[in-house]
Amino acid sequence: YDGTDPGIVFLTDEVPKEVLDFATKAKQSVLKIEEALKLAKEVNAEVLGFKRGRGIIGGLAAIGEDLSGDHTFEIISYRTVENRNKPRHVQISSVKMMDKSAPLTFNNVDPETGRILITPRGPDPILFGIRGETPETVKNAFELIRIDEPIERWMIFRTNQGTDAHLQKISAIADIRAYNPVIVKGVVSKDPKTIKGGHVIFSIMDKTGEVDCAAYEPTVTLSKMARRLMKGDILKVFGGVRPPFEEKQLTINLEKIRVIELASRILLANPNCPKCGKRMKSMGKNQGLRCDRCSFRSSQLNKIVVIEEREIEKRLYITSPRSQRHLTKPHCRYGKEKIGFPKTLINNWHFP
Ligand SMILES: [Zn+2]
Repeated sequence: YDGTDPGIVFLTDEVPKEVLDFATKAKQSVLKIEEALKLAKEVNAEVLGFKRGRGIIGGLAAIGEDLSGDHTFEIISYRTVENRNKPRHVQISSVKMMDKSAPLTFNNVDPETGRILITPRGPDPILFGIRGETPETVKNAFELIRIDEPIERWMIFRTNQGTDAHLQKISAIADIRAYNPVIVKGVVSKDPKTIKGGHVIFSIMDKTGEVDCAAYEPTVTLSKMARRLMKGDILKVFGGVRPPFEEKQLTINLEKIRVIELASRILLANPNCPKCGKRMKSMGKNQGLRCDRCSFRSSQLNKIVVIEEREIEKRLYITSPRSQRHLTKPHCRYGKEKIGFPKTLINNWHFP
C-alpha cells in the first residue's frame, strides 16, 4: 500500500540487551533506519526491507519489547483477500452488547459518539481487534461479535497497547525534547486560549523553563477541560512533543492532564440585600446598590469577595477513547497494571 515501508527482522537465540534498549528507545523517541540496520548487523539479525524499509525499525523493536512490564492482550481477526478494500460487515449492535458484557476489555466503543472502535477504517486486512486484560477475556468477547463476512484467521497477541509505554517521566521542563513523549509537572503560566478549529493552547512552567500545551478539538474531553484551567493551577501533563514551528516553542500534544492543585478564582460580587436576602444590583458607577425585590437602596454597602467554584476537579483527565493513541492507558486500566510474564498460556489462541 502507498505510504507504507514494510520491513521484517529475524533473530534466533536470546535477545541481546542492546535490542531490549532499542525497543525502549523506539517507544519513547524517534530512531533512524541506519541505527536499526547497524544494530541488526551487530547482533546477527536477518533483515528484509521493502521500499524504504522503515518497518525494520519496528520489527527490531518488537523483538526487543519483551513485555516484562505492563501488558494487555488483543485478539485480531483478518479478512479474506477478496473482501479487503470493501466495507467491513461487523454488526454494530453486537459490538455494543459485547462492550457492556465484557468489562475487562477496553476501547470498544467511543462513549461520546457511540462510534465503534474495534474496526480499523483503512484498507488493511484486519477485520476487527478487541483489546483486554486477559487472553480469555478477549476470546470470550470475540465470540459475541456477529459478522456477515468470513474470517480468514484470528490470533491473540500480547501487546503494549493501553500501557502508556511511550511516556517518560521527566523532572524538568528544560529536559523536554521534540518527539520524546513526556510526563512532566508544572504550573499554568499562560491562561488557555482557544484557537481556530477549537483547539486550546496554554503554557506551563517550572524553575527550568516553560512549554506550550495543546488540547486538540478531537480530544473533546480534554479541550473542554483545558479551557477551564487558569494561571496558578498545578498540573501533571502527558503527551507527545511537537518540535518548534513558526517561531513557537515546543508543544506538548496532550493525551492526559492530572490536576494536582487548583488556584482559587477570586471575584468581587454585590452583596445580598440585608432586608430580603436577594443579590443586590449596581445602579451604575458610584451610584450605590439597589434590591430589585424590595427596593432597598444603599450607598454604604461594599462589594464582597467571593471565591468562585472551579468547574474542574483535582483528578486525572484523559482524551476520549476515539482520539487515544494505541499506547495511551485508558481510565479503566488504572489499577489493572501487570508485571512479568503470564504463567500459563490459553489453549487455542489462534485459528487456523
Ligand atoms: Zn431586598
